Amino acid sequence: MINNHPKFELIQAFVNGDLPASLSAGIAIHADMCVECQKTIAQFTEQVAENSFEEEFLDRFIVDDNDALESIAAIDFDHMINAIVDSSDIDVVVPTIEKNISFNDETYIIPTALNSMELGKHAHIGKLTRTRIQLNENEIHTSLLHIQPGGGVPEHTHKGFELTVLLAGSFHDESGEYVKGDFIMLDGSHQHNPVSTNGCLCYTVASAPLHFTKGINKLLNPIGSFIY
Ligand SMILES: [Zn+2]
Repeated sequence: MINNHPKFELIQAFVNGDLPASLSAGIAIHADMCVECQKTIAQFTEQVAENSFEEEFLDRFIVDDNDALESIAAIDFDHMINAIVDSSDIDVVVPTIEKNISFNDETYIIPTALNSMELGKHAHIGKLTRTRIQLNENEIHTSLLHIQPGGGVPEHTHKGFELTVLLAGSFHDESGEYVKGDFIMLDGSHQHNPVSTNGCLCYTVASAPLHFTKGINKLLNPIGSFIY
């Protein structure tokens, strides 16, 4: 069961279109698997749409003269909405083309939100495989990260933020077990050592290289920049 969801402020920013493509895709991927957040997004979207409709209406009310006001009053909204709902024009089914990606002989379906994004080549280090998602967001790096069974990342913290959305499999750290669909947003106040017993595939967004807290940071830096 999914236990980790985006904070409401993040959902608000998502609906308002204020998020970079990387985080926006992270929320879309999570919502695809989470009925609870789908509902929250739908409700907030409706609220935003209502507000902007009212604003537009009030703008006209203030600037326009009486003739215009009368013409607004003359619009038969019920009739208009019925016409839209009845129209066969909106009855278009857009086919979803499934795209696959393979890691270590296992094939995964790429989340719909990532379908139009360009993916880089696989790069490997130990049990980790990373595929960059080319979003060109400067210091924000986005990837698919695959961990083979028994693999993990040495204990680290973050100078910026690190978002992980679990696409398949599971992993655990000091805070518990994470499963498919979990949306895990961490920052410098979190320190963890994620390990995947049975392997997993994650969507990751990071705004700075990892900072290792145990062992010799210099020796681990290649892993840090690899994952970032
Ligand atoms: Zn959710």
